[in-house]
Amino acid sequence: MTHTVTQFIESLKKRLVFSSLMKSYKKIYFRQMVFMRFFDLHCDTVHRAIKEKVSLYDEMLCASFKKTEYFSEYIGCFAVWIPDELRGPNAWYFFEKSYEKLNREKRNFKHKAILTVEGGAVLGGELKNIKKLKEFGVKILTLTWNGRCEIGDGVGVDGSKGLTDFGASAIKELQENEIFIDISHASEPLFEDVCQIASKPFMSTHSNSKSVCKHRRNLTDKQFEAIRNVNGVVGVTFCNDFLKISKGADIEDVFSHIEYFLSLSGEDTVCIGSDFDGAEVPERLKDISKVYKLYEFMLKKNYSEQMVDKIFFSNAYNFFKRNGQNF
Ligand SMILES: [Zn+2]
Repeated sequence: MTHTVTQFIESLKKRLVFSSLMKSYKKIYFRQMVFMRFFDLHCDTVHRAIKEKVSLYDEMLCASFKKTEYFSEYIGCFAVWIPDELRGPNAWYFFEKSYEKLNREKRNFKHKAILTVEGGAVLGGELKNIKKLKEFGVKILTLTWNGRCEIGDGVGVDGSKGLTDFGASAIKELQENEIFIDISHASEPLFEDVCQIASKPFMSTHSNSKSVCKHRRNLTDKQFEAIRNVNGVVGVTFCNDFLKISKGADIEDVFSHIEYFLSLSGEDTVCIGSDFDGAEVPERLKDISKVYKLYEFMLKKNYSEQMVDKIFFSNAYNFFKRNGQNF
């Protein structure tokens, strides 16, 4: 009898522990998975899906449409990456193929996917293609990739120069067609030229801080401040190489870049631009369903929920909104 009573009490205790565990799990689940909003300024998922011949819902993709179900709201910028070596009509054909895939598959997508292009080579040196990009619904053009295109030089060009004459005309035309200028991948002279001639806010969709990690793709403090001063936005990226020079980048390193940019009065400037499916990322942030871990990390560091939401969603959302784009 005593034995049975003890057993009963033990099993009751276990059940209580289990139920309190479930309660806290539900609380976490509820907050992170349901109420978290995410606006991602950059991913290469369309390109990877084409390369791997899979649907955008396929779970092998880091930013698979399927894995975004966890967010209460999600807006993803899906870049069509144009390789540097593609020129003229070939670059345009490459773009159209990616566009068709995204357009077809996003029809039943419960969230929003924005079309962007990474690489000014897409224009094939023709200004009239900017209007066509607008008609296709493109919202952001990353002016260059690492190499040289008709617009100017990327960060990988030795003795790089800034904007070409065509590039300067393209800036004007892009602004008139409400396509935002992205200077991720730009060489320093190109960045300077954009600062001189852009009359509308521009952005860096996926670059980190050079003061935290001295990588050529990252932004100097001066560059970050220049973007902040024109009310632009900067997407902190999860790309391992831009997070930390040595191996083993983790959530703490992403946080270091965010915190550093915040220290440069970047409260309304800092966003996220994951680079999912285009870069090696920390294991703990290996796909879009793990992004909540960074969100939670910031809450634990005593950032308010409102501040964390700004970085994950509303800074990017407000940028588009104040520049005439509604979703
Ligand atoms: Zn890139």
